[in-house]
Amino acid sequence: MHGVPDARRRLMANVRSANTKPEMIVRRLTHALGYRYRLHVRSLPGSPDLVFSGKRKLIFVHGCFWHRHEGCNLTTFPKTRADYWNAKFAANVARDAAQEAALWQQGWSVLTIWECETRDLLALQQRISGFLSNDTQAPDLPPN
Ligand SMILES: [Zn+2]
Repeated sequence: MHGVPDARRRLMANVRSANTKPEMIVRRLTHALGYRYRLHVRSLPGSPDLVFSGKRKLIFVHGCFWHRHEGCNLTTFPKTRADYWNAKFAANVARDAAQEAALWQQGWSVLTIWECETRDLLALQQRISGFLSNDTQAPDLPPN
């Protein structure tokens, strides 16, 4: 059984690691669009991955497994220790929701990009571009 804690420690290290591959893809695309940003701003809830202070916009890049992307084939479920994982995942999802709510309340617009969305670079870049170029605060406003 002593192999389990090691495997878990590795997984836990992964969830916290910055500069993951999906995040690097998002940073590269955003940079190519000509936008500049700050990284992992710890003074904000959730230490958002990319922060555009002047626009009051920010981007999270979420791993599908850890942040439980609904309906995603990367959102697999470990076969053992179901109670442990259920609690762990529920806490992750609740924390994400609370952090995002706090950010919106502080006037930030938040875009969440899922790991699986970094497979389609063109669609992803269009999404980032749309998010950052649109200066309207409320995305649901009807077009002029
Ligand atoms: Zn996904």
